[in-house]
Amino acid sequence: MSQEHCIIIGGSHAAAALAAGLRQEGWEGKISLIGADPLPPYHRPPLSKAFLCGDKSESELLIRPADFYEKNNIDLVLGSRVTNIDREKKTVTLHDGGVISYTKLALTTGAKVRKIPIEGSDLGGVFYLRDLGDVQQIKKYIGKGKSAAIIGGGYIGLEAAASMRKMGMNVTVLEAMPRILQRVTAPEISAFYARVHQEEGVEIITEASVKAIEGSGDVNAVALADGRSIPADIVIIGVGVLPDVELAEQAGLELDNGIVVDEYARTSDHDIVAAGDCTNHFNPIYGRRLRLESVQNASDQAKIAAKTLCGNLTEYRALPWFWSDQFDLKLQIAGLSQGFDQVVTRGDYANTRSFAAFYFQDGKLLAVDAINRPKEFMLSKRFLAEGKNADPVKLADESVEVKDAFEG
Ligand SMILES: Cc1cc2nc3c(=O)[nH]c(=O)nc-3n(C[C@H](O)[C@H](O)[C@H](O)COP(=O)(O)OP(=O)(O)OC[C@H]3O[C@@H](n4cnc5c(N)ncnc54)[C@H](O)[C@@H]3O)c2cc1C
Repeated sequence: MSQEHCIIIGGSHAAAALAAGLRQEGWEGKISLIGADPLPPYHRPPLSKAFLCGDKSESELLIRPADFYEKNNIDLVLGSRVTNIDREKKTVTLHDGGVISYTKLALTTGAKVRKIPIEGSDLGGVFYLRDLGDVQQIKKYIGKGKSAAIIGGGYIGLEAAASMRKMGMNVTVLEAMPRILQRVTAPEISAFYARVHQEEGVEIITEASVKAIEGSGDVNAVALADGRSIPADIVIIGVGVLPDVELAEQAGLELDNGIVVDEYARTSDHDIVAAGDCTNHFNPIYGRRLRLESVQNASDQAKIAAKTLCGNLTEYRALPWFWSDQFDLKLQIAGLSQGFDQVVTRGDYANTRSFAAFYFQDGKLLAVDAINRPKEFMLSKRFLAEGKNADPVKLADESVEVKDAFEG
């Protein structure tokens, strides 16, 4: 048995992919996966979707069957937090004082919710949504006929709104900006989602300034600065996440809006790799550094990190993609739209529930948001990864096949 010991810190998407990847790549040494969460790695996306509204059970959330780790000789150290990394001695310290030696280390510490200082946010029934534990608590406050106020009209807020509405709750989304999804999409997509939510009975208040969350013991309303009071048996705050770089910072690794890694997922200490939401990496397709918050990135980058640890240096080169499920809408996003100067829509976004929006910059296709349009998503994903451009006029014309709108 090899004397190598890889410790993976973090117990989620990136950690699971990294551990599995190490065995696939032939790592013969010991693997320990240390995660603060008490459960083996589980899928986070259903937490605001199928799991929240009861369409999925806890056991269905697991990324790998529970016995996968034992079968692959991966030690799970769950419910345990690493509090210190000593890079000279090559040890990590656990919250209970235990010290473990490593030869290689992987940081997959992910992201943590951005907290905002609002009066009343310590009342019962006020939640952020990141972990299974959060949703287990949230479930105690939801049910048909109850009222929910969601602070933040981003993807997670809107998904939670859709799930709760599906359960027969009265839901209000409070968005500080002039439109929902403003940070991440074009006005056409925001207008589309606002329309569908309203058709489904969700109230959306934009330019909402939350003054305080009110109640005694438990929440009962959200007070807005303009004097309105929004009734609420539960409040969910979804205003983004921050990379969890606490340990990396303590260990003295290079940071810049996340843990800085190279194309092989190596940190500034080459015995330590990092992958997932916590990293800042270079994307060769877009020619710039990125910090992504997606399952695709967590899994794909972790596989690259596993290869690196096994001595098989392979460049991380992946087209980012993402999805969001709300009501009967399956949004699939390929590529990154930041910096777009032109949006072309294919399909009737004002009256139907199926269309695609293509984002261009200086005539070059950057990304697509495809809603109930799997073909547009799949083809764009493939062609974007290959660096192909498309003709905006043909894309907008539904009589032209999508594939024929792409060059070559
Ligand atoms: C409700 C919700 C819905 C989402 N929906 C989608 C979606 O539809 N599509 C999509 O692509 N993405 C979605 N995401 C984002 C996606 O889940 C994340 O991008 C993904 O979980 C990132 O994985 P990760 O392993 O990098 O980090 P994380 O999932 O953040 O996991 C990091 C883990 O590390 C642990 N940890 C941190 N520090 C320590 C320490 N010192 N010691 C031990 N353990 C530690 C944390 O407890 C955590 O469990 C969603 C996220 C949420 C919360």
